[in-house]
Amino acid sequence: MPSKFKCVRCGREYEPGSVFRCECGGLLEVVHEPIKWDRHIVDSRLCPMGAPYSSGVWRYKELIHPGLPAELIVTRPEGNTNVYHRSAVSEFVGVERLTMKHEGENPTGSFKDRGMTVAVSEALRQGAKAVACASTGNTSASMAAYAAQADLKGIVFIPEGEIAYGKLSQALAYGSKVIQVPGSFDDAMRVVQEASKELGLYLLNSINPWRIEGQKTIIFELLHQRGWEPPDWIIVPAGNLGNTSAFGKALADLVELGWIQKVPRIASIQAEGAAPFYKMWKGGGEVLESLHPETVATAIKIGNPVSWEKAIRVIRETEGVVEVVSDAEIMEAKAVVDGSGVGCEPASAASVAGARKLVAAGVIKPDDDVVCVLTGNLLKDPDATVGYHTGKLKGIQARRPNAPTRLDTTSMSASLRRLLRE
Ligand SMILES: *Cc1c(COP(=O)(O)O)cnc(C)c1O
Ligand SMILES: [Zn+2]
Repeated sequence: MPSKFKCVRCGREYEPGSVFRCECGGLLEVVHEPIKWDRHIVDSRLCPMGAPYSSGVWRYKELIHPGLPAELIVTRPEGNTNVYHRSAVSEFVGVERLTMKHEGENPTGSFKDRGMTVAVSEALRQGAKAVACASTGNTSASMAAYAAQADLKGIVFIPEGEIAYGKLSQALAYGSKVIQVPGSFDDAMRVVQEASKELGLYLLNSINPWRIEGQKTIIFELLHQRGWEPPDWIIVPAGNLGNTSAFGKALADLVELGWIQKVPRIASIQAEGAAPFYKMWKGGGEVLESLHPETVATAIKIGNPVSWEKAIRVIRETEGVVEVVSDAEIMEAKAVVDGSGVGCEPASAASVAGARKLVAAGVIKPDDDVVCVLTGNLLKDPDATVGYHTGKLKGIQARRPNAPTRLDTTSMSASLRRLLRE
């Protein structure tokens, strides 16, 4: 195996197995043997005849999991997601050079597929029979699909009544065993860690360092699409902080290869009611204090983010920032992104809402080059979308509602004319 696990706290190294924490309590990360690698190789894979290199993850295999035999790769394939510019969104944020990388275009509708293809392939390499995760929704949807493809038994632990309907329906449809845990995501996370230890399930949460390796490819692919020209800012919604960690690791890889010279600043955006990372960063603390999370954006409704120790280094090393946005700001940004024809789920819109707030605060300049990552698909959370537009979302005054109207059939043509004038 040319790759090892290494503790981010004490530096101790391990063979990659199914233990994801160091004896000292620190998180483990994957380290590969240094390589010299030519950019022409990834270019030549842009028009491949099929898997695995047609995948926006496995195109970069040598930087992700160099030692994995190709026949073990479980791929859909994932990635190859588009980058959009929309004037309405640029105007809303206050930055002309603003683009959105839409990770909701992955096979199961979120970026989680990028980490899942790597971690499920690794589960096969280790001979696992069953895989498990705790999830705010998208991890379970993704795991269920990849477990089905790989013929592995999938078991997901979700916080009862807390996950969006689109995501729950995917986990059920793809055939995983769905176990509802009373409490929040953080409770489900505790249960799955115990269950996987006790029952020998291979754990597929983002504490699994292979998930982070796969998620690095959001950055590889983004920069590849831009001809390896980095933007000034990359803005990402932050829940469990896997993406923030992965983005920093990816940028470090690219600097080491000499493929980029400048490192973009990373801005991690949390929901106001689920912002333990923001509180830690703002207060200059060295340890994260968990809290009870509350937000409409269920994908980032996390009070005890597992990857904070990796993520805080990324923020510091990229001269990044952490910001918070309210649920009302998230839903308004979503309405603008949706209304531009691009569309995303609530948590994803946190990046756009955060960009707007950072521009207003003068942190991001109007002529900066900014990329917002949209993490999930519009169809994931129909209740939030319909609730917003019909004014039924608790505690939110919709500023851009688009409620359906009822046709008056007694004077149909007059009614129609009136409705279309509105
Ligand atoms: C998982 C998820 C997030 C949170 O990402 P982290 O890596 O946990 O910070 C944000 N948005 C969506 C749509 C997600 O599925
Ligand atoms: Zn350690």
